[in-house]
Parts: sequence; C-alpha cells; structure tokens
Amino acid sequence: METDTIAAISTPMGEGAIAIVRLSGDEAVPIADKIFKSPANKKLKDQPSHTIHYGHLIDPETGKIVEEVMVSVMKAPKTFTREDVVEINCHGGIVSVNRVLNLVLKNGARLAEPGEFTKRAFLNGRIDLSQAEAVMDLIRAKTDRAMNIALSQMDGKLSRLIKELRQALIETLAHVEVNIDYPEYDDVEEMTVPMLLEKCTWVRDEIKKLLRTSSQGKILREGLSTVILGRPNVGKSSLLNTLVHENKAIVTDIAGTTRDIIEEYVNIRGVPLRLVDTAGIRETEDIVERIGVERSRQVLKEADLILLVLNGSEPLTKEDENLFETIKDMNFIVVINKMDLPQKIDLEKVKELANGRRIVATSLLKEEGVDELEEAIAELFFEGQIESDDLTYVSNARHISILEQALKAIEDAIESAKAGVPVDIIQIDVTRTWELLGEIIGDTVHESLIDQLFSQFCLGK
Ligand code: GDP
Ligand code: ZN
Repeated sequence: METDTIAAISTPMGEGAIAIVRLSGDEAVPIADKIFKSPANKKLKDQPSHTIHYGHLIDPETGKIVEEVMVSVMKAPKTFTREDVVEINCHGGIVSVNRVLNLVLKNGARLAEPGEFTKRAFLNGRIDLSQAEAVMDLIRAKTDRAMNIALSQMDGKLSRLIKELRQALIETLAHVEVNIDYPEYDDVEEMTVPMLLEKCTWVRDEIKKLLRTSSQGKILREGLSTVILGRPNVGKSSLLNTLVHENKAIVTDIAGTTRDIIEEYVNIRGVPLRLVDTAGIRETEDIVERIGVERSRQVLKEADLILLVLNGSEPLTKEDENLFETIKDMNFIVVINKMDLPQKIDLEKVKELANGRRIVATSLLKEEGVDELEEAIAELFFEGQIESDDLTYVSNARHISILEQALKAIEDAIESAKAGVPVDIIQIDVTRTWELLGEIIGDTVHESLIDQLFSQFCLGK
C-alpha cells in the first residue's frame, strides 16, 4: 500500500482563472501546514474536515511569500482518494501554479504519476475500475452527451448492471453445484437445465443490449465521422466554415496525429461530428485528387455520415450523379446550396437519387437553411433511439471487447444446454462469463492491466 504523499496540478494547464494543486496522503496536511500561513495563524491540522482557508504560502527556506491562496482541507476517508487531501487554490497561470507545486514538492510531497490520484481511489476501494475509466473518459469527453455517459458510468450505473448480471450467474452456479452435490433426486438434470437456460438467456440479452449501445457510445466519444462531398465550387468550404464557426470546435486533442487527413470537431446539437479531410476541402477542393482514389474510397467507406453538397443554381451534372452512385448505400444528407440564386436544379431527379434521404436547401452565403441542416443531422443520429440519457451506455473499447467475449461464452453455454451437454460442462462457460464480466469492474484484473490503465490518465487526476 502506497502511503507517501503525492501532489500534482489538478486543473488543466493554462485554462481558467484558478489553478489547483492537489495533495493526497498521510502527510498532506502536515506538508501544507509547513508552508501555509493564515492571518490568524491557525494550523490546518486543527481545522475541521471539508473547510477552506484563506492565507499565504511562505517558503520556509527564505521566509518569503510565494502566493496568496485558498486552501481546502479534506480528511480521510470522505475524499476522492480516501486519503487526507489538501487542495491549494491559487491564481491561474503556469508560472504561479508551478511555483506552488515546486514548493509542495520541496517540502515532502512526491510528484504524482499520471492517473495516480484515481488509482489510489480505486485501490482504496473508493471507486471500481469502470468508474476509474469513466474519470479518464470524462477528461477526454468531447461533448455534453459524452460527458453524461462518463458521469453516469462514474456514478456506477454500468457497474451496478454488471454486478447484477454476475450475481445472477453466481447464484445459478451455486444452485447447480448444490444439485450436483446432492444427486439423490433423479430429476436433477431436468430441474437445473431449464433454470440455467432461463438465467443464461437473460444475461445474454442484457449483454446484447449493452453492446447495442456501444456503437452509439463510441460515436459520442469519438465523433460521427463526417465527410463533406461535392464537385468544385458548390460550397463545400463554405459549409465547413459555417459548421465550424457556428459550433465552436470542441477540444481537438489530436495533436501529433501523423495522418495526412486533417480532422475538425464540431458539436451539432449534442452530436459530435468529426469532419474528415478538412484539409482536402480547404486546399485542393478535391478529396480524390488529394489523397488518391483508393484512399478516398476508404475514407468514404469509414464515414458515418456524408454531406453531399449540390449547386441549386445549376442543373445536375454527370459528376453529381456519380457521387450519388458512390454513396448510395451510406448515410447521407443532400444539401442543395445557393438557394438565393435562381434555381435550375431538377428537384424531382434529386429526390429520386436521394432515395428517401433528407434533402435540405441552404444558402451558405446568406446563412439560410443551416438550422434545418443541423436539425437533420441530429435527427439522423438520434432517430428516436437514444434521446434518453438513462440508457446504460458502453463506450469504452476495453469494455466492449470484454462484453463481446462474455457474449460468446454465454452463447456457448446456452447452446450446450440446448444440446443436452452435462451441466458440469456448461458450468465452465458460465463461470467464464462471470469472470469476464468481473474484469469490467476490476474484480478479476491483473495488476499490470491496472497500471497500464491508470498510466493513460492525465497528470493530476
Ligand atoms: P467549394 O469549391 O465546394 O469548396 O465551394 P466554396 O465554398 O469555395 O464556394 C464556391 C463559391 O460559391 C464561392 O465564391 C462562394 O462564395 C460561393 N457560394 C457558396 N455558397 C453560396 C451560396 O449559398 N450562394 C451563393 N450565391 N454563393 C455561394
Ligand atoms: Zn472551397
């Protein structure tokens, strides 16, 4: 058990007017007392838990004032890490917050590793693994909706459901065990197999339900991959600019991406769009020309949504029709742009080619029709399925992969049961399902996995 005291800056660098340096561990309060001086000379160790105090940080070596601060004292166990926690609120700015962190480190704290606060919370039983991962997702959440998923996961929603499933499985296993150990009744098999089947089927259905939410969850986390398509001069760049400017791009923490496809994030009514190949639109105008036929096919194939832009002031061209043909099996919305000009496009023909997809008329020049387009995007995405926030979403790649394995295991069990395989054999698959589900909440994970997971966190969380 780690008992040394860790410290880190726990607010994002360079953001906000206040920065927080957080300490956690047995020495958190004594370290703070070494450097903190309140006007009334009160000691933090004598203060009640969960109180905040005004004062100055003083470097004990020089006796000089370092910062004017507010210090919160939170005593174990009712803290995030279940250890004593001190939070030093200081004026933002990298220089001042680093000065405070250095002072704390000089006086006995150790710099926290990435994710170490959350790791302690997990190791001290404050949160389970899926909740810890939710903290990580929260840090990366790109939209409010993604934030809500992370929040409800942190709140333990997914954990509760997983625990319920595991409970059902373990009860079934126990029941079967008892029947096998006391086979004085001839009809043991007949009694246990239907029960097993019933429970396993229920668990299978619940896992399936969870997995069904996962694609939506992934999109919410990573953005709906969207390509703006259209021949030159129809208004692709104008559309891109309008979408980006009206829906102020969300955190684009994709720095260091080596791909030659540039992405931009926008948030359309809670639906995060990842606009793909925005460089292609801005520079060469032609996605095919820029990245080649093969690559652009691939990009199109991977897209969740295509915005096909047409010029309403011109008749449809062969090129337009070819584009329709290319994307005919995909999710797309037709944008008929330049509706401020006299219209020459054959609407009936467009309707026929669109084959039931939404068609929206816009004038990007006059900023008309953009609301309708955004509405259409949001509708397409939510289509009544997932408006509600009370669904339990799975959006974490690790969870999805485990659930898929668990589904396979429980389906094997069901198949065996139906095929008349002896109960003690079926038990193996049921046990495996139980173990796999345990990995989601961290009941059966290995130490190395835990280390690896927590090292992905930002520093200071
Ligand atoms: P892209 O080649 O498809 O990216 O098209 P652009 O966005 O660069 O637009 C081509 C030209 O059409 C530019 O001169 C735009 O100002 C103009 N344009 C874009 N949208 C509209 C519109 O709604 N109405 C009119 N009249 N002109 C537009
Ligand atoms: Zn352009």
